[in-house]
Amino acid sequence: MSDMVQRSGSDVLLEAEKISRLYPSSARWRGAVGGRRREARSPPSEERPGAIGEELPDARASTHRGAERGVRAVEEVSLEVRAGETLGLVGESGCGKSTTARLLLGLEVPTSGCVRFRGQDLRFMSQEELRRFRRSVQLVFQDPFGSLNPRQTVGSMLREVLSVHRLATGEAREKRIAELLALVGLSAEAAARYPHEFSGGQRQRIGIARALAPEPEVIVADEPVSALDVSIQAQVLNLLSDLQDQLGLSYLFIAHDLAVVRQVADRVAVMYAGRIVEIAAAAELFERPLHPYTRALLAAVPQPHPRGGEGSWLGEGARRDSARGAVSTGSGPGCPYYERCGQPERDAACNRRLPPLEEREGEHRVRCLKI
Ligand code: SF4
Repeated sequence: MSDMVQRSGSDVLLEAEKISRLYPSSARWRGAVGGRRREARSPPSEERPGAIGEELPDARASTHRGAERGVRAVEEVSLEVRAGETLGLVGESGCGKSTTARLLLGLEVPTSGCVRFRGQDLRFMSQEELRRFRRSVQLVFQDPFGSLNPRQTVGSMLREVLSVHRLATGEAREKRIAELLALVGLSAEAAARYPHEFSGGQRQRIGIARALAPEPEVIVADEPVSALDVSIQAQVLNLLSDLQDQLGLSYLFIAHDLAVVRQVADRVAVMYAGRIVEIAAAAELFERPLHPYTRALLAAVPQPHPRGGEGSWLGEGARRDSARGAVSTGSGPGCPYYERCGQPERDAACNRRLPPLEEREGEHRVRCLKI
């Protein structure tokens, strides 16, 4: 990458400060939260509310006062993606991970709070600054087939991205396409082929090549391996890791599978019911998880039991730490995890006030009144 900057480990590239997203309870938005909406895959447009560049909603008018005003998908989430690191974002389906990703990518505007790139608030960027931001922060989708146009050859897709960002033309563009394919482990001949001619793993490589085309600094990878076979998952994770070393990329790596996050993340943020409930360095979080929900997630990771036999794939301590019931909406005044919490210290106080996200040791922060 010719213009890739040298970055120190503490540089913050992409940052969310107390971002919330409330979806009005109108028919237009019903069913949007937790699902995969068509709009999220499209660039911001004038027809879709909440795209960057549009007039901002009145933050006071849109501040929620409970479930009657709409569905809270994300609630006061603060996180940062630092230069050269991988921040893992984990949680169950519907907890707000993908909405957080869309907010960070500028595909939606937060109801309150702000997103900054290199310290600059997206709301106050000029058109030229927004163009640079969109080039610098790219997305890798979960579904490697659905995210590729079946009627376009791989070369045509990459050509389009290079043209949109005005990065190369003519022979230089063809050379760059071959370079991108080589970066993701595909031959130059792949450029002439269509998506259906590739396996799932190869398609995800094409998706990664497309994300790399504008020479981004940050890649938001939304469940990039969850649709792939386990053996292919490992190959794609290794590829992402190699690309990070080679190009100095930063990743926001979204997954529901803690075992996958453990392989790639430097730091991990755990989300529940739209809020961050714990955030720590990956090694610290996996060795010393503090929040009952994080412990429940870890307990749910299958472990090979040394004795084998019935129940041998249950995680250590699974029964003790497992969460009870279904995911709550977290719409009450207290702890969003109250209804499912198996912590012996849980009491009525937990249901009266929202626990703050507080520092415990170093950068280890947790949202629980009893820890
Ligand atoms: S605040 Fe109470 S209910 Fe919430 S996680 Fe902690 S112990 Fe459980």
